[in-house]
Amino acid sequence: RVEASVPEAQREAWRKFSAKEFTTKDQFESEVVKHIETTLARSLFNCDEAAAYAGTALAFRDRLVIEWNRTQQRQTFADQKRVYYLSLEFLMGRALDNAMLNVQQKDVATAGLEDLGFRMEDIISQERDAALGNGGLGRLAACFLDSLATLNYPAWGYALRYRYGIFRQEIVDGYQVEVPDYWLDFNPWEFPRHDVTVDIQFYGEVRKYMDDAGKQISVWENGEVVTAVAYDAPIPGYGTKTTNNLRLWSSKASHGEFDFTKFNSGEYEASVADQQRAETISAVLYPNDSLDRGKELRLKQQYFWCAASLYDIVRRFKKSGKAWKDFSNQVAIQLNDTHPTLAIPELMRILIDQEGLEWDEAWSITQATFGYTNHTVLPEALEKWSVPLVQQLLPRHLQIIYDINLQFLQYVQRNFPKEREMLGRVSIIEESEPKRVRMAYLAVIGSHKVNGVAELHSDLIKTTIFRDFVKIYGPDKFTNVTNGITPRRWLHQANPRLSELIAAKLGGYDFLKDLNLLSKLEAFVDDKEFRKEFQEIKYANKVRLAKYTKDVHGISVNPNSLFDIQVKRMHEYKRQQLNIFGVIHRYLELKSMTPDQRKKVQPRVFFFGGKAAPGYWMAKMVIHLINQVGKVVNNDKEIGDVLKVVFLEDYNVSKAEMIVPASDISEHISTAGTEASGTSNMKFVLNGGLLIGTCDGANIEITREVGEDNIFLFGNLSEDVDDLRHQHFYGDYVLDPMLAAVFASIRSGTFGDAGQFSALVDSIVDHGDYYLVSDDFKSYVDTQKLIDETYKDQEVWLTKTITAVSRMGFFSSDRCIDEYAEMIWNVEPLPPQQNGA
Ligand code: PLP
Repeated sequence: RVEASVPEAQREAWRKFSAKEFTTKDQFESEVVKHIETTLARSLFNCDEAAAYAGTALAFRDRLVIEWNRTQQRQTFADQKRVYYLSLEFLMGRALDNAMLNVQQKDVATAGLEDLGFRMEDIISQERDAALGNGGLGRLAACFLDSLATLNYPAWGYALRYRYGIFRQEIVDGYQVEVPDYWLDFNPWEFPRHDVTVDIQFYGEVRKYMDDAGKQISVWENGEVVTAVAYDAPIPGYGTKTTNNLRLWSSKASHGEFDFTKFNSGEYEASVADQQRAETISAVLYPNDSLDRGKELRLKQQYFWCAASLYDIVRRFKKSGKAWKDFSNQVAIQLNDTHPTLAIPELMRILIDQEGLEWDEAWSITQATFGYTNHTVLPEALEKWSVPLVQQLLPRHLQIIYDINLQFLQYVQRNFPKEREMLGRVSIIEESEPKRVRMAYLAVIGSHKVNGVAELHSDLIKTTIFRDFVKIYGPDKFTNVTNGITPRRWLHQANPRLSELIAAKLGGYDFLKDLNLLSKLEAFVDDKEFRKEFQEIKYANKVRLAKYTKDVHGISVNPNSLFDIQVKRMHEYKRQQLNIFGVIHRYLELKSMTPDQRKKVQPRVFFFGGKAAPGYWMAKMVIHLINQVGKVVNNDKEIGDVLKVVFLEDYNVSKAEMIVPASDISEHISTAGTEASGTSNMKFVLNGGLLIGTCDGANIEITREVGEDNIFLFGNLSEDVDDLRHQHFYGDYVLDPMLAAVFASIRSGTFGDAGQFSALVDSIVDHGDYYLVSDDFKSYVDTQKLIDETYKDQEVWLTKTITAVSRMGFFSSDRCIDEYAEMIWNVEPLPPQQNGA
């Protein structure tokens, strides 16, 4: 209904009884008690912390929903261009604390909960993480949603509503064990939209016929149909009423619950089989990070999600009554990595087969609509789908992909007639056995802009995987948007005391919306009171992590030690093995010292955390080695507090919020040229920790911003990597002698049966050391020594950390979103009006 068509009396009644937001403590308490007593059917006498969390979350959800409805109405009414961020992963973490802080009502809620007999920290910790992602890529998408809403961009996220998010990691006898994460038991943040459903087809065949005008028409038919149901989650901006939408699709059988005919004839299991088959599509998140898993189910997930999202986007566009030529003026779709690339042939299919557009018009609309963000140059992560599989599952899409390829190759041939060998290199179809569809090439060809996620990475994609495409399209199609992080979650929420201290110095919290204001902190670098408080906050955060380590892992660590942290997915390219070999080296050195010499060594705790993909046995071996080293070192009386090693189980976003503010040093030590950007590096520095890192990803820009004196760089450069690998290949190198001693110690059984780690050692000694651990080892150890020395002068250290924090403004994800909006999407913000309309 449009407003004008509703009689005034009705309008008045709606206005009068329209839902109101709580603004006072009493109103908040009344909402919480109402939800506990009616929605949850509990009372004062059986309200535990879980129920109090539920009541609080529901009170906040109601509040968000009011603004969310208004935002959607405003955006529909304004009818301007919207952004759709397609990401197979959104690593959101917890929602309650973020919602309270973004709507700026945490104080009210804290006081209200206290009245009702609860402590805010206990309530917040009741919430399960929404862990619909693996690592950096998914967390980036989550930070982007926060920035899009905060900056008032009309934007939606689209993903799948996995029943199981990333697995929970348990460490049993030093080994990773995966346990399912069934996170949906109670999720107050989502709204099922049973009225928003889309039927998605798979398999079947394509029939072609001529219409009356002699035009060839393709019909994809006789396939299996699965229904997508929308679940929406409100995304509140910070300090604005804009509340955007994250729409997650869940799969279910298209014909209802189960087959009654089968059930009635006694085929009980068969009667639910279809239902289960359909629901499998959105059942699990693939737990792979930077590894491609070419599985049919994964391809089904990708198409299911792309098709449902595009149907939704097109439906919304068509409601506006605009002509197709306006589509890309109304819609920008960003592809977060190649996972949503099928959206390109899907939009072509809609435009040509369903809407009757000619190829050329459909293609120019498609290209103008999509932008593609590349996240990796690692060959093992580049998605390629077997042609026979695509043929079977999506026969019409394969035809369209072949047509796109044909047109593209003809264009290349026309423009580069002398470079025939280029055609094979750039073809979307790889001539392997079986043939495969190169999704990254399809994404480049079908988008108007391609971006990398840090300067080095964006340069590297132009000279490696997309080199030919730069020649074909010119360099302007390729750009860089260096990743960023939301200061709301990663400073204000994770480190409230530091946020408060900064606000006290800068005269308010404006820096949370304009992170460049941090530069004003530099003026306080010599302010005694400020320095003292800054240091106390770091210490308190370390005490909190030390307490957690004792409570959960039973390991005592001294918060006066240097806290060295490496938390991120376990992967050979991220080189946790380099870190643990460094720890073993340190242990051997300590063992060779006299007690007096040992007393002079800077005490350190090495914290590790991160999940390995379940099938990635080398990464799992590194986890095992870390735990074995921890067992030996932590129980060595001679060593005591001088060295401790902790593996923090089940690293996730909510743990990151506790771990990140507790670091003195964090490790970002990937082989140069392999880490696209990294984002945890930014989080650590923003929270007053320094980095040890290679010249890789965003470490390079962090160095540019904070200054070379305020970061510890080491190792070979990306331009040397090829030569070094070559040397290994031809046996033209000598294993670093300190590393050789580390290996000798492992082989001698110091950390348990050496056979368990032989593949790891052999990969370096005998199999080419692809990640150049040996080449970087000395530089790494020397730099760690420098860190020990520097840390001894706490005043110098403090100056470095404060200076670094004050120079981190560039890394706000708000800056990223403004860059995407201007360079790639061409969208404008739509701020709420002053009167709230
Ligand atoms: N995993 C989690 C839970 C995170 O919070 C983050 C970033 O903060 C990452 C992974 C990405 O870490 P990195 O940038 O070190 O790869």
